[in-house]
Amino acid sequence: MHTRFIDYRSDTVTKPTPAMREAMSAAAVGDDVFGEDPSINQLEEKCARLFGMEAAVFCPSGTMTNQIAIKCHTQPGDEVICEENSHIYQYEGGGIAFNAGASVKLLAGDRGRIHARQVADAIQPDDVHRPISRLVSLENTSNRGGGCCYDFNEIVAIKTVCQEKGLALHLDGARVWNAIIAQNENYLLYGSTFDSISVCLSKSLGCPVGSLLLGRGSFIKKARRIRKVFGGGMRQAGSLAAAGLYALDHHIDRLKQDHIHAQLLAACITKKHFVKMLLPVETNIIIFELQEGLSAPAMVASLKEKGILGYAISPVRIRLVTHLDISENDIHQTIEVLNAL
Ligand SMILES: *Cc1c(COP(=O)(O)O)cnc(C)c1O
Repeated sequence: MHTRFIDYRSDTVTKPTPAMREAMSAAAVGDDVFGEDPSINQLEEKCARLFGMEAAVFCPSGTMTNQIAIKCHTQPGDEVICEENSHIYQYEGGGIAFNAGASVKLLAGDRGRIHARQVADAIQPDDVHRPISRLVSLENTSNRGGGCCYDFNEIVAIKTVCQEKGLALHLDGARVWNAIIAQNENYLLYGSTFDSISVCLSKSLGCPVGSLLLGRGSFIKKARRIRKVFGGGMRQAGSLAAAGLYALDHHIDRLKQDHIHAQLLAACITKKHFVKMLLPVETNIIIFELQEGLSAPAMVASLKEKGILGYAISPVRIRLVTHLDISENDIHQTIEVLNAL
């Protein structure tokens, strides 16, 4: 058996580094429900400022920040427009219906991305029979789309449609860091375009938990109330925020390295006889489909015997994700294994 697996199952598997743990143990803490945790206040302010947003609220998960946003933007029966593979629809336990009582309009996108034209066509007419279209939610990077990035011009076009029709625009930015680094984009542009943004600290960045929801002051005030209803009001959670502060300072720029690692793996995978299709690799996610007759779970099991963990996202598709805890040496070792297959 292997003593250490090279773990590409997800970028959620990263662990706090010794320096991050030191920052966590040194953190000043207080009761955050009373607004008295200095580290959480600092993280919320830092993150809001980074994106040019008025305010932010710290939450235990990205599911919670997305769900709070949806609840704040909608009334029961309203319609949320999103891509059919989006996390808010596929992986949040039906939360849009459960938490907000909202309905969903799914659009078929291109690797998780939708066009302004599709959004415009999906908006319901003002008709008593119809739900009220209230919110558009985008995902950048797109997880099921293989970590691909929006062209920001498309986002601006979608924003224009939303403004014309009075819809709010939310970003599920669990991996917005990867998009910003890969596309060399400006954080402030995101803040000035979206009404709300959810960002995750627990993907690739080493933090044990943590997400933030960003928005206008009045929106975040409402979001704090909903966070409490959802059971997400935390007390002396400043050490978690300290991990986030540390990650923002030390683990964002290095995402470039994860993207280079993903390219190295992709260059090897694309040449393998057992691979039918590899989604274009733009950031840290690699998704490939196996040739007819081959099984993704069987291939994942065989890689595991060789010390490499991947994830079968469908009967024929495998996902590998690079992150903080994958070293250059791990990549070379993985390429050796793949070459021997
Ligand atoms: C991981 C992820 C989330 C949030 O997931 P949590 O595990 O609840 O933090 C949201 N959106 C996307 C696209 C994700 O990949």
